[in-house]
Amino acid sequence: MGKARRTPAAAATRKGPHPGAKKPPEPPGGARGDRASKGKAPPRQKAREAESPGPEEEEQQQQQQGGALALGAQQDRWLQFLKRQRVSGEEAAKLLLDTFEYQGLVKHTGGCHCGSVRFEVWASADLHVFDCNCSICAKKQNRHFIVPASRFKLLKGADDLATYTFNTHCAKHTFCKTCGIQSFYTPRSNPDGYGIAPHCLDEGTVRSVTIEAINGKEWEKAIKAHPTIKTLSKP
Ligand SMILES: [Zn+2]
Repeated sequence: MGKARRTPAAAATRKGPHPGAKKPPEPPGGARGDRASKGKAPPRQKAREAESPGPEEEEQQQQQQGGALALGAQQDRWLQFLKRQRVSGEEAAKLLLDTFEYQGLVKHTGGCHCGSVRFEVWASADLHVFDCNCSICAKKQNRHFIVPASRFKLLKGADDLATYTFNTHCAKHTFCKTCGIQSFYTPRSNPDGYGIAPHCLDEGTVRSVTIEAINGKEWEKAIKAHPTIKTLSKP
């Protein structure tokens, strides 16, 4: 239950160029027919672009795709891995980083009601949710769990969001312009992270929800009483 980890098998289904494919870079303007049209010599630069990359260029390509890392004895294995899994250096690095940094976490997905706003967020399957009674949270019945910004990714809807602020203007109350739902926001307690509405997550990845009341009505007092709340958005 609650398993949403990205697996190498899933990544392997990704299509696209990879360092193993020795394909010359696509010349700008789709001028791949240059070779066929012999006779008139293409401009020097164009000819260069249409040719296969030399060893130097190939090395440059590899470096751009992750070979620039000091991989040492793992260099060959890394390149073989990219080839076998048909992933780019960037995709492989993401896979590795996700696996390492998000150990024990699951990838939840969620969004607003109309579907304009969609996001993914890495968090525990057992959510610790704050129920705040401040002026705005009370009115919209805001409950949220906090994550570092690095674990949250807006998949779509950046232009569909409206932002409401008041008082200190520290919290950014973001909501969908179409359906009005606040599926995530930037809390005043954690301006470097996000507060996610557990009730806006898709089904299937939440194992349990623990709700803790926060006395946001007396904000300064509440934050003093919960000194660890600020650490929740630290990467
Ligand atoms: Zn919406």
